[in-house]
Amino acid sequence: MFQGGHESLSKNAEPFGFDPADIDFLVLTHAHIDHSGLIPRLCQQGFKGPIYCTPSTLELLKILLPDSAHIQSSDYERVLRRKAKGKYRGEVYNPLYTLRDVDQALLQVRAIAYGTRFAPCEGAQMQFENAGHILGSAILVANLKDDAHEQPLRLVFSGDLGMQHSPIMPNPTLIEEADALIVESTYGDRLHRSMESTEDEIVSVVRQTLEGGGNLVVPSFAVGRTQEMLFLFVDLVRRGRLPTLDVWVDSPMATAATSLTHKLLAELGERARETSAWFAQNPQALNIRFVSDVEESKALNRIKGGAIIISASGMCEAGRILHHLYWNLPKEHSAVLITGFQAQGTLGRRLVDGQSKVRLLGEEVLVRASIHTIGGLSAHADQEGLLTWCRGFRLPPARTFIVHGEQKASEVFREAITHALGWPELVLPGRGVSYTLHPSSAS
Ligand SMILES: [Zn+2]
Ligand SMILES: [Zn+2]
Repeated sequence: MFQGGHESLSKNAEPFGFDPADIDFLVLTHAHIDHSGLIPRLCQQGFKGPIYCTPSTLELLKILLPDSAHIQSSDYERVLRRKAKGKYRGEVYNPLYTLRDVDQALLQVRAIAYGTRFAPCEGAQMQFENAGHILGSAILVANLKDDAHEQPLRLVFSGDLGMQHSPIMPNPTLIEEADALIVESTYGDRLHRSMESTEDEIVSVVRQTLEGGGNLVVPSFAVGRTQEMLFLFVDLVRRGRLPTLDVWVDSPMATAATSLTHKLLAELGERARETSAWFAQNPQALNIRFVSDVEESKALNRIKGGAIIISASGMCEAGRILHHLYWNLPKEHSAVLITGFQAQGTLGRRLVDGQSKVRLLGEEVLVRASIHTIGGLSAHADQEGLLTWCRGFRLPPARTFIVHGEQKASEVFREAITHALGWPELVLPGRGVSYTLHPSSAS
């Protein structure tokens, strides 16, 4: 699913270009909406087969897909209201699917644990390995055999790969063999800031803000980044770098994803497990409160200072974060901590760009609070992380397809692989182009 901006609406509404009824099965690497968001539409248009993913991905889909249907219908209604008032002249796109389509899609999911073989059709053996990107994220390892070849073809699909040494996820599992590899390249052209300097920045912003008597507002994606920030805050208190903190998590979806994260500690990295065990022993070290109802959320607006408020959406486009920004942006002692990518045209981007006034909840709001951008947190491996994962292969894959990146990121990453690893045949596949794969032993 394309996300962000008006253009994505028309792209998502385009026909698939194939008949969904012809598909036998679907394999999903993780729950992020850019990967899963069109599945209900695929089912609604005739796809009846099983959808394979990990159990944690299924749990996240149960949170994310209904939310996607909900956002689409409320956006649609808002556009209709604006059109009725003559304030909207663009094309109106119907919601892509309804909650009922989501329920149907979820019924088609078959959850398969990491490391467990499954055979979605004759000749195909597959397995998921932990990609360290978000909860439930998987690398797909597939052995595909047909009558024409003695040996199966080993196809590895990286899915989205996590960064090395994340505060919460394990490093992506190394895979040793592939005839053909499909690898992501989102940050194939850049390096993240080191985790140490990222932590130093966070510590200084938190200390400055709390000592100055302000609140710290942290716009955060409900799934992934919120949990990462919570683990980081606990870990920084544990290591004596921060004092006791009052943290409020104000997003129902983030609350659901956090409790899921706790249930699935075994899938997280070692550092997250240690942090969590320490917090269980020292619960007084941080007051973390999950805000459920709207009244309680509004009550947070009366807190003058000393609070850390984590809320969604991550790009400040919608949701409860708007209220927290409305109340805190005009306060010069408060601060906003931006921890993720802010797309062009979003309120988050306007704050990052340093605008002194922003439009928010129908009003002009003065920005007196300080705005801090933390660059080092990412759910994606950077170029070095991607290369580290690629080095896990004992022999170069005969063919490597570089996907999931903007053109420049993919091209730069192709150069980096050539330079660092000397792999043969690196392909930037075009949309809609077909490729025929052979086992490497075959000519
Ligand atoms: Zn992802
Ligand atoms: Zn992705």
